Amino acid sequence: MKNNIDNIIEFLHGSNDFVVTSHVSPDGDNIGSTLGMYYSLKKLGKNVYYVLDDSAPLNLNFLVDGVKILKSSEFEQKDYSIIALDCGDKSRICLSDDIRDSAKTIICIDHHASNDAYGDLNYIDANASSTCELVYNLLVEFKNIKGLDLIDENIATALYTGLVTDTGNFAYSSTHPSSFEMAKELLLKGAKRDMIIQQVFQSNPYNYYKLLGEALNTLDIIDGKVASISITKEMLKNNTISFNDVDGITSYTRDIQGVEVGILLKEKKENEVKVSLRSKNYVDVSQIAQSFNGGGHVRAAGCTIYDSVENAKKKVLEAVLKTI
Ligand code: 5GP
Ligand code: MN
Repeated sequence: MKNNIDNIIEFLHGSNDFVVTSHVSPDGDNIGSTLGMYYSLKKLGKNVYYVLDDSAPLNLNFLVDGVKILKSSEFEQKDYSIIALDCGDKSRICLSDDIRDSAKTIICIDHHASNDAYGDLNYIDANASSTCELVYNLLVEFKNIKGLDLIDENIATALYTGLVTDTGNFAYSSTHPSSFEMAKELLLKGAKRDMIIQQVFQSNPYNYYKLLGEALNTLDIIDGKVASISITKEMLKNNTISFNDVDGITSYTRDIQGVEVGILLKEKKENEVKVSLRSKNYVDVSQIAQSFNGGGHVRAAGCTIYDSVENAKKKVLEAVLKTI
């Protein structure tokens, strides 16, 4: 692993033009790790562009406030390398195929179990709590090799955000002693912990609760072990809340006593349903997601099913019930 990190450090050091990006429907770890890398490269005097064809959810706007995020159509550079962060699958990199395929080099930094090491340079560790932890390790190693400590208050705040969102505030089994050590170091560097917690977990708009009320009415519990909630595009529209702002509802399915697998079905458009899967103790939901061409982690994974909400639910339940 040290080799991979060192190769990436040498590459970053020796190159000048970079695109940083992550996956569709960005979450705290995507945005935190991408920003951590973006700020670090800027500090090194590199040309770096943040390109993402999606928008941050409301509760993460505080992180990207003032950062220039380009859409693919606004990006015009020719010679560049891509750093894909927290993106387990090449096809999920959230920029145009053209920009992706024209990159000189793709560097993949990720912690998804389903990642097939699609980069030219890869730093992948499925045991890591978050991609932010990998970026942190990289910056620590950068300091060891190059003698330059890049982590400042901004970078610490970005990386701390991904650490708390991907570990469920240090609750999930992916939280290791190293995650707490990292948290300690980031706090010492000035990570704005109170602001992060308030913005991420304590700033839901009223419309979120109206939608949540409707969503909980669809709660279905099967054999006491599987729970599902369905959100249609009409429900989102009626409550004036966007698709990327309701991901937190997934945890309501998993958090029920006795439930092993929680499922959230979210209708993006007609015959396109985003499925989120969570497990508590023993089911590998990454395997289930992969059977629908998705991916993720053992305890949190997702996929898209091109069918009605009702049919998507039937298909997922059939796959999940085989594992219970
Ligand atoms: P969520 O349910 O929060 O959208 O995603 C849970 C985890 O699974 C995240 O780490 C996310 O990156 C991954 N994931 C979600 N949907 C997909 C998908 O369609 N393909 C892949 N490869 N990973 C996904
Ligand atoms: Mn992640």
